[in-house]
Amino acid sequence: MAEEYKFFDAVCKSFDKAAKYTNFDQGILEQIKQCNSVLRLHFPVKIGDKVEVIKAYRVQHSHHKLPCKGGIRFSEMVNLDEVMALSALMTYKCAIVNVPFGGAKGGISIDPKKYSTYELEKITRRYTSELIKKKFIGPGEDVPAPDYGTGEREMSWILDTYVTMNPGQVEAIGCVTGKPVTQGGVKGRREATGLGVFYGVREVCKHEEQMKRLGLNTGIEGKKVIVQGLGNVGYHSAKFFQEGGALVVGLIEYEGAIYNEKGLDVEAVFQHRKKTGSILNFPGAKNFNKNTDGLEAPCDILIPAALENVINKDNADKIQAKIIGEAANGPLTPEADDILTKKGVLVVPDMYLNAGGVTVSYFEWLKNLSHVSYGRLERRFMENQNANIVAQIESMTGNTIKPEQKKILVHGPDEIDLVRSGLEDTMIKATNEIFACWSKYPEIPNMRTAAFVVAIEKVGNSYLELGIFP
Ligand code: GLU
Repeated sequence: MAEEYKFFDAVCKSFDKAAKYTNFDQGILEQIKQCNSVLRLHFPVKIGDKVEVIKAYRVQHSHHKLPCKGGIRFSEMVNLDEVMALSALMTYKCAIVNVPFGGAKGGISIDPKKYSTYELEKITRRYTSELIKKKFIGPGEDVPAPDYGTGEREMSWILDTYVTMNPGQVEAIGCVTGKPVTQGGVKGRREATGLGVFYGVREVCKHEEQMKRLGLNTGIEGKKVIVQGLGNVGYHSAKFFQEGGALVVGLIEYEGAIYNEKGLDVEAVFQHRKKTGSILNFPGAKNFNKNTDGLEAPCDILIPAALENVINKDNADKIQAKIIGEAANGPLTPEADDILTKKGVLVVPDMYLNAGGVTVSYFEWLKNLSHVSYGRLERRFMENQNANIVAQIESMTGNTIKPEQKKILVHGPDEIDLVRSGLEDTMIKATNEIFACWSKYPEIPNMRTAAFVVAIEKVGNSYLELGIFP
């Protein structure tokens, strides 16, 4: 049994380390820590001419705020322990970035590559029906989203199943987020996690004291970055780092890693992999046939954006990065975390750094409940206002503003602008709250513990506000 809950136990251990810095009584801490509802499912689906029994889960870690929120992953590695741990991380993640949801996570234990699109659709729809049956989905109850192995397509199937089975429910479209924009999604959700990772690390790099301690200059410009994983999160993180002025020197995928200290063009590597089927042999770059060797190459910032436990006790000591930005969920084992803390590496923790996805999911959910897209009411008004101001400036100064500059000045915010600025603000605030907590308790060993303290404070206070514990 103890073995079965290894990942969840690790999250609880991190929680306990942080709980010492708070003043809640033991009962509240215990209530925050435990998973509130666990759904374990077996359901049959006809695959070819055979019936296959599919194993799946949905765990609602916390009901301190509703709905519960968190992705659904499709992977052979999915098990109850993993889903419980990830659901707990969702609670803390939402709290840190002030997204008013409880944490949840779901998973189907399948390798999606082994099924046709039609079969995947059948599995997803059946899973959704099971969630409906048990009231584990709904815009006010529990709102799934994409995660490892799922994306917009799966979210559309979930939406369609839910809407069909809940006719007349006006807010039904808010039952799931990460939908295609044409199906009630919000612009900017797809790249949100990667962009959030970038905003978070960029803010961390502004911290003078931390950068001095690490022997780095402040600012993101010129920093050498290695990204592991070219999936949705890794690809977008890498692109935003490059656009932000960092040098993406290494990229890592299943089949190997490539490295060029002068910098790689992320889009060109992505296209190269699409064309050749492999990241290797990219012109001008050095190959690492063993992908994990890429993690140990020289850089300032390492971004693991793939799966759990990729940095563990066997390779933690060999990592050369000074900053590790956990874009994936749980990429470091607790042993690796201890080794890296001792080495003085700044680990920017997953549950805050990859919160961009759920933050923009929150914006999508709000859009769904209000039935209006962002910017619709004010964009034209703002443009007219700005055009008037520009005209006034021109007439007062007697100068004509260049058309391309005028375009920028006049531009009223549309959905993508508002989503991105909301995300940027969220990540900046969260980073600063964590650093403020860390400086309040300088004996806190690392940023993860500081982030946990922030999360526990918020969830604990919200339980107290609910008056559950008089
Ligand atoms: N699966 C993502 C995460 O782990 C997004 C969750 C969501 O948008 O609800 O944070």
